[in-house]
Amino acid sequence: MTREVRTLRPGTADATDVYIIRSAMPGPTVMIVGGVHGDETSGWLAGREIKDWEIDAGTLVVLPEAHKQAVARQRRTSAAGVDLNRQFPLGRRPTNPLAREIWDVVLEFQPDALLDMHEGWGIFGIHDSVGQTLITYPAGDAQSFAQHATSYLNTHHVNNQRTYSFRVVGPPIEGSLARKAGQDLGIPAFIAESTVYQTKPETRIRWQKAFAEELLRWYGLLTRPERYVPPEYRIQAQAPGEGTPDMAAGPNADAAA
Ligand SMILES: [Zn+2]
Repeated sequence: MTREVRTLRPGTADATDVYIIRSAMPGPTVMIVGGVHGDETSGWLAGREIKDWEIDAGTLVVLPEAHKQAVARQRRTSAAGVDLNRQFPLGRRPTNPLAREIWDVVLEFQPDALLDMHEGWGIFGIHDSVGQTLITYPAGDAQSFAQHATSYLNTHHVNNQRTYSFRVVGPPIEGSLARKAGQDLGIPAFIAESTVYQTKPETRIRWQKAFAEELLRWYGLLTRPERYVPPEYRIQAQAPGEGTPDMAAGPNADAAA
C-alpha cells in the first residue's frame, strides 16, 4: 500500500491536501470528500481520520478539507462568499479555480463512486433541512448501496430510530460536486448529511465514518473483518453526564420528536 499526498492550489489561501491511498491489490477507486462547507465540521473531522485508513484493494482518494478558507472560518463559504458546492456546473469545466482543480482530480482518478460529507442543522421530514439523509445520485447501483448503508447505520448507529433514522433522498442539487460526478460521469455519488440537531460532534463524525466505511466495503476496498467503526462504538461513546444532550445516542431521545 502506498500513500501519496498532493496539494491543490499550492501557495494560495485555498491550498489543501488530497491523499491517494493505493493498495497493491487491484480494485475499484472511491473518492471521499469533506470540508466543502466549513461549518459542517463532522465532514472534515471525519475526513482527517479517513485519510489515514488502510485499504485492502483498489484506490482511495481522500480530500478532507476541500474548501480550506471555509474550514478555517468554520463557515459555509469563504470570506468572499464562495459556496464551493455551487461551483460544479453540469457538462462543462468549473470556472472557480478550486473547483476546477478538484474536478481535475475526479477526472484523473475516474472514481467508481464518490461520497461528499456534509451536515444539516435539522432533520429531514421534521425540519426544513436535509439532516439525516443520504442524498443519492441514482447511477449504477447507487440506490442499492444507499438502501444498504442507511439500513446499516439505522440498525447499528442510531438509537432513536423514530427521529434520527437516515433516509435516502435525491438527487444532489445542481452545482454540487456529487451532482456533477453522478450526472457527468454516470457514477454512484452521495452526499451524507448528519444532523447537528441535539447530537454530539463525535456522533456526527461516527455517522460520517460509518457511511464512508460502508462505501469502501460495498466496492471491495475494505475486506478485513474488523471494522474501523464498530457498532459497539455507540455504547462506548455514551459516557454519563458528558457534554450537551445527544438525543441520537441517549435514552431520552424520543423527546426530540
Ligand atoms: Zn453542506
